[in-house]
Amino acid sequence: MAGIVDGSPSAFAERLAQDGGRAWIVADRETGAPRASHPWLSDVVELLRMDRRDHHAHEGMFFEVGRETGALHAAFVHWTDRGQGAGGVRHWPYPRLEDLLRDGLRLSVGMTRKNALAGLWWGGAKGVIARQPGDRFKDPSYRRMLYREYGDFISSLCGCYVTAEDAGTTPTDMSEVFARTRHTTCIPRELGGSGNPSEPTAKGVVRAMEGALAFLGLGTLEGKTIAMQGAGNVSGFMISELLARGVARIVASEISPARLEQIPKDPRLEVRLVEAGDTSIFDEPCDVFAPNALGGTLDPDSISRLRAKVVCGAANNQLLDAERDDASLAARGITYVPDFLCNRMGIVTCANEQYGAMPHDPAIERHFGSDWDNALFVITQRVLARAAAEEITPAIAANRLADELARQPHPIWPGRSRQIIDGLLAARWHERR
Ligand code: NAD
Repeated sequence: MAGIVDGSPSAFAERLAQDGGRAWIVADRETGAPRASHPWLSDVVELLRMDRRDHHAHEGMFFEVGRETGALHAAFVHWTDRGQGAGGVRHWPYPRLEDLLRDGLRLSVGMTRKNALAGLWWGGAKGVIARQPGDRFKDPSYRRMLYREYGDFISSLCGCYVTAEDAGTTPTDMSEVFARTRHTTCIPRELGGSGNPSEPTAKGVVRAMEGALAFLGLGTLEGKTIAMQGAGNVSGFMISELLARGVARIVASEISPARLEQIPKDPRLEVRLVEAGDTSIFDEPCDVFAPNALGGTLDPDSISRLRAKVVCGAANNQLLDAERDDASLAARGITYVPDFLCNRMGIVTCANEQYGAMPHDPAIERHFGSDWDNALFVITQRVLARAAAEEITPAIAANRLADELARQPHPIWPGRSRQIIDGLLAARWHERR
């Protein structure tokens, strides 16, 4: 069916509903070439086959139409050598099926790398729910139905993908998913989950800042100036961490007057209320710049204005164009700590919820230490050293290291998720609704 990738996810869901409501695309084990459950998916297979950017021989992609909502549910399982594919489910509007596919493919690769660099025994995967047109998605009873459907979908995949919270998804939504499947993390604390990860995220980013400064021979954070865009949850905790480490000055920009009121006062801290389009924070002279608001803020304009030695912050996908902007930062002599390396603590805190929790959990604390290979302070320096030795940018170095680590087999369950995918295909998962 020509043109299916240019059509909307809703059009794809309608076509899929006419043919049983489920489909898969998996990579051939030998060649990596994609093959699909239905001949009419040839358009999608061709897109994947020709793509050199987002498709990396993903082990499995699964699609299902919600029985009650008619929404398109998807799971993208990238690599699972380190364990089950893990990553959040994004509930987002996509104009075209191709946009949804590219987001799922790209984000699942990102999760393989983030999980591997964090030393987690998880592979990489990502979920996507195509937001349906209109305002329905705001209705709590619709959301309950939608996320319960998603939970059923995840259960049907038998554990090759373990889902989590992501953009467009709330803790309440995750409790609906959890009502239908055990294969989820990031559930609310009252259901045995790990709760809001903002504090450990902030601490992790600060440890990565310390790693970058140490690598550059610039000492510790003591006496340094930090500029940050956004003074939200992560920034609030980051400010406390930085003040406790003796920074000389913190300058932050924030667009929400309500949020500004909540930030405790300190003589070394200046939080400026700005308009949404205001970018003056990029002109601020500082040692470290922390993008802590939204993604995509580092572009040719903002990079040319930065007056920082190091960029290290919490926001996801900070570079508007990953390759171009990574190279521009390096060309300006600014050390960029890739976001997927330093903002890992959200997934770290929820990834292993099934192993229980305790105060000062050693499984969490080791990320903040200095004597574990994957600790933030250590791995930041490893990545920067590799970038220098191989004369590549830190993001490329981080990807190379991540791809090596992602090939390590799970110590107890090697190959398990691929076997699960084989089992789904053998049982004709796509015909079993
Ligand atoms: P948040 O929404 O609490 O904070 C973001 C703040 O930025 C808000 O207060 C908002 O008003 C402000 N803001 C938005 N646009 C702005 C602009 N143009 N200029 C100045 N301020 C602006 O979110 P958060 O939980 O603090 O997360 C911050 C970033 O880190 C997000 O991009 C998030 O996706 C990412 N992240 C967060 C976690 C976590 O554990 N919370 C983990 C990984 C990544």
